[in-house]
Amino acid sequence: MVAGELLSQPVTALKGVGGKVAERLTKIGIQQVQDLLFHLPLRYQDRTRLMPLGSLRPQQEALVEGTIQLSQVKFGRRRSLLCHVSDGTGAIILRFFHFSKAQQQQLAKGRRIRCFGEIRNGPSSLEIVHPEYQLLATEGIVPVDNEMTPIYPTTEGLHQLSLRKLMKQALAILDQDSMPELLTESSRLHQAAEFSLVDALKYVHQPPPDAAVDQLLERKHPAQKRLAYEELLAQQLTMKKLRAQTQHHTAPVLKSDSKQRQQLLSALPFPLTAAQDRVIKEILDDVAEAHPMQRLVQGDVGSGKTVVAALAAVEAVAAGCQAVMMAPTELLAEQHYRTFDNWLTPLGIRVGWCAGKQTAAERKQVLAELQSGDIKVAVGTHALFQDEVLFNNLGLVIIDEQHRFGVHQRLALRDKGRETDSLPHQLVMTATPIPRTLAMTAYADLNVSVIDEMPPGRTPVSTVVLPDSRRQDVIDRVHHACQQQRQVYWVCTLIEESEHLQCQAAEDTATALQDSLPDLKIGLVHGRMKAADKERVMQAFKAAELDMLVATTVIEVGVDVPNASLMVIENAERLGLAQLHQLRGRVGRGQVESHCVLMYHPPLSENGQARLSCLRETNDGFKIAQRDLEIRGPGEVLGTRQTGLPQFRVADLVEDQALLAVMDRASRVLLKQAPRQADALITRWFAHKINFGNV
Ligand code: ADP
Ligand code: MG
Repeated sequence: MVAGELLSQPVTALKGVGGKVAERLTKIGIQQVQDLLFHLPLRYQDRTRLMPLGSLRPQQEALVEGTIQLSQVKFGRRRSLLCHVSDGTGAIILRFFHFSKAQQQQLAKGRRIRCFGEIRNGPSSLEIVHPEYQLLATEGIVPVDNEMTPIYPTTEGLHQLSLRKLMKQALAILDQDSMPELLTESSRLHQAAEFSLVDALKYVHQPPPDAAVDQLLERKHPAQKRLAYEELLAQQLTMKKLRAQTQHHTAPVLKSDSKQRQQLLSALPFPLTAAQDRVIKEILDDVAEAHPMQRLVQGDVGSGKTVVAALAAVEAVAAGCQAVMMAPTELLAEQHYRTFDNWLTPLGIRVGWCAGKQTAAERKQVLAELQSGDIKVAVGTHALFQDEVLFNNLGLVIIDEQHRFGVHQRLALRDKGRETDSLPHQLVMTATPIPRTLAMTAYADLNVSVIDEMPPGRTPVSTVVLPDSRRQDVIDRVHHACQQQRQVYWVCTLIEESEHLQCQAAEDTATALQDSLPDLKIGLVHGRMKAADKERVMQAFKAAELDMLVATTVIEVGVDVPNASLMVIENAERLGLAQLHQLRGRVGRGQVESHCVLMYHPPLSENGQARLSCLRETNDGFKIAQRDLEIRGPGEVLGTRQTGLPQFRVADLVEDQALLAVMDRASRVLLKQAPRQADALITRWFAHKINFGNV
């Protein structure tokens, strides 16, 4: 058999792999022998050196050795066996919750013991809970491991030891012939790509005895960087390919005499900013093509994305198609509906509303009018995804606050307009300013436009951070603002609890605030109110009939009340940076100077402190997003579950930004020079995840 074929055999060709094991391996994406080699260690355990007990720190995993000084059973909340071990440099406690009589006898005073486990802070000293251990003869040197121990991602019923054995077999057939290099010379745009692939794979699976342990544990070793380079490249190629496949479809050409657009523009109370103007032109150029637009519009909170969306919708209608605009929350969708209704109805464009909380009769009517084509522009929530929603001639799909919806939902809505080979154009809008490198990864299948300018006359919001012991001062401040005819938002946060509790908390807060501020008119909105009630309160706030709005984080996105100039956020330390920035974006929309008070409940963690001071220091969404990325990691920034961001095996979107920066170019080069190798790279890294057939 040729070397190359050995690696493309099914895993059942290996010793010890029968039907059961093969099934479990399939679960973690391993079907061929070579898939094993790309199943990379999550991390390593270092059992190559003994750590002196005096040098241990919590959270570290360590191999330690010492003599048992005392062994006793404690009856506390839980019965446990505690062994006090010391080695002359320090001491540690081994804690067992489950132990047999025999074990208890073995672990006796005076015995020499070696153990491995995670060091933790116990009630009285450092501890290891349920260490792996080995009792040693009192005298003599017992050798430590020669190699680092790789720990692989695995699944139920598949033990680390079995995986390691399989890896050994796969590594035995790994060489330059069986595993060809797929990168061409000119697609290696970073020194990380210079390392040999075969050497890199061998190194990460079986780090040699003299391996740079710390580098490896921190994922900074050149071998890991080499693999990260290839993985990121494969991901970029995948996205480019998805995009190319969409481009094979046709789309309706949306091009009109621009009369209606001009009409809308002259009816607006403001001229567009240069940035809005540029972005709408980019969109119009796209939709005038007979291929589906796939464009992301990024613009910080308040930069004016809605009017851009409306102009695009008008163009679609003028060209004889329908458009749909979807928002992630009912509140936001309602607001868009009102805005669109105000702007488009005077142009003779019928706007429809579609959401979950409609009566059956209303819904039936809307569905009928969407299908007949009487409604030209539909605004709503994810209710627009449902199968029963059919369009007459859908030409444009607009999705607001994209980060709330995943790639899959995006595709589902797009497919709504699918007749034969034609797809609607797609515009997604986000106020989450995603750092460039991350945007290129998450949205590599989209073109990006940025509204990088605020409408004139806005004054930046000034932000203070206060402990909740200063609550009374804050209440005084609220009173003062309302006396000046300004309006105030008071946001109650309670995360990881039920929505019910959140709403309860908001109700209690509203009552308490009303007691302290009897002369103010205070309204309340939360997620469990009926849509109509919420709407009524919001309208009253907008019309300045209310001084203060107490709310849960439902008002996080999009709500627009320019006269509101003070925002108080309770327990701000519980929210992420992006969310706080969004909330704060509700103020600072008018001419007067606005303020934001971030109240926290002490003590503040280091991380919490970093987040709150970042907000105090800047209003720039991009800077905040970058900080957020550093503090929380990319999955969190985009919301892991919804992003469709791949889970990387070695690459790290924060650590590997330098590699990310060259991926666009590297992937273009490879696609052009060696398309077959590009395909092979995608298969090598992502075969089990991508089903191109569906796209
Ligand atoms: P976002 O980008 O956060 O969705 P909006 O579209 O809600 O922002 O716009 C925020 C506010 O700015 C709205 O009141 C909107 O009418 C107003 N606005 C939008 N564009 C301009 C502009 N060019 N000049 C002045 N005000 C504008
Ligand atoms: Mg908006």
